[in-house]
Amino acid sequence: MRRDRRRRPIAAALASGAAAITLLVACTTVTNGAPSSLRARSSSTPAPGSAAPSSSPPSTPPTSPCPAAYAAPDPKRPKVSLAFTFSADLATVRGTEHLSFTPDKPITELIFRLTANTLPTVAEGNRIVVSTATADHGAGRATFTAAGADPSTQGGLLHIPFAQKVPAGTTVTADIAFTITVGAESFDRFGRSGDGAQRYSWIGSGQPLLAWERGFGWHDEELIRFTAESASSEAMDTTLTVTAPGKDTVIMSGNPKDPPVAPGNRVWRSRIAAARDVSVAVGPFAVSDTVVQGVHLRVGAYAPALRDALVPEFQRAIKELAARFGPFPFPSLSVARLPAQGGGIEYPSSILMLDGSRLVTVHETAHQWFYAMVGDSQALHPWLDEAFAVYAQHLVDGESEQPGTLQSPGTVDKSTESYGDEVDTYYFVTYDKGAAALEEARAVAGAPKWDAAMRCYVNKNAWRVANPSDFEAAMKQFPKSIAVLTLAGALP
Ligand SMILES: [Zn+2]
Repeated sequence: MRRDRRRRPIAAALASGAAAITLLVACTTVTNGAPSSLRARSSSTPAPGSAAPSSSPPSTPPTSPCPAAYAAPDPKRPKVSLAFTFSADLATVRGTEHLSFTPDKPITELIFRLTANTLPTVAEGNRIVVSTATADHGAGRATFTAAGADPSTQGGLLHIPFAQKVPAGTTVTADIAFTITVGAESFDRFGRSGDGAQRYSWIGSGQPLLAWERGFGWHDEELIRFTAESASSEAMDTTLTVTAPGKDTVIMSGNPKDPPVAPGNRVWRSRIAAARDVSVAVGPFAVSDTVVQGVHLRVGAYAPALRDALVPEFQRAIKELAARFGPFPFPSLSVARLPAQGGGIEYPSSILMLDGSRLVTVHETAHQWFYAMVGDSQALHPWLDEAFAVYAQHLVDGESEQPGTLQSPGTVDKSTESYGDEVDTYYFVTYDKGAAALEEARAVAGAPKWDAAMRCYVNKNAWRVANPSDFEAAMKQFPKSIAVLTLAGALP
């Protein structure tokens, strides 16, 4: 996620005066070109689509081999079928979820996160109501816990309990039916804009989201009190079916073929081999379909001029980020430029754009590597995707954090929930100070060696949920960099 900083209440809740100055400067530093020196370095990295460096950097210990390419998704990952049906006015979405899940530890229940019931999301008129939730292996009646959700809702977490402990390695299946009410337009995962023929609706994290992390267990952290991410979910083998008014176009995760125009509803279907979540946007989008480096890029916008401005920006973002971190992780990227303002929100192989800037374009595209492919707990370690997305943004645009950012107060590796209502502090410490720490760590390691090690980290942790210890292991060959990251509180 990236908020549009021009709309950010800069003076509020900041840790220091120096930080406030940093932000003001940062507002004006969106640039459209990297310095030639950076481009020269960039062009010397392996071409996208080619394998990552085939030999380990000389200083890599033999115990940490660098994989030659992205690790394959876990064959035991969950399998989920999601179906969403939008009403004619796009204000209501009926959904079903069929899940097949093989835990790597014994379980006594299934836990799902009900993101739509987050306080500020409900305040805009959104919510999810679960009507049925069942599972096999003698599962009992579903229950809900508040978990910080708006008190007028069912709660923030859905639980399906089992009568007896289900052993590790047992496949359980669950079926859930639910209804989402889509509220007013705002910078959020849910919203609705316009009226008559020009109305749009979007949902992200609409379904009850399985909250399991292999090797960790259930993530039952509370929903947060501001608009940001706080989910932790595994990359799942995902099938997505969306039914929407036939005159509209659906822009969603995966790469659905548009069904033939027909009266009544139309149905869009996609399958994503490994996706932690999905987004869906519906409306009379002006659409562009292009192919960049083998990736099908679909950009839908509420006005043709906005579409035409965004297409080259996304093409460039895909190319330049791929040159840095490896081939684009998905066969397709679907972008919905919505008639609302505030920033951007990333989903696996899809992006909700409530902004048209290059900064947000690159930031959200960078999340396709850091969050969508190399996952993290957005609840407990949000810096592992947000600081990395800012870092990636700066690398491709030849920017860096403002001086003093790294020295500002704040512990980079902190849970999102721990910030309470302090939204600006969360954004500053997690995004900016985190990126400043990565940039300084890179500088003291030496950029070429650091960049090679970063590729190893990405390859090794692809399609997994990475933790700070994984990043530390990837970078332990650079003790001075580890010291920088530790001092910033990014590593323990
Ligand atoms: Zn972000």
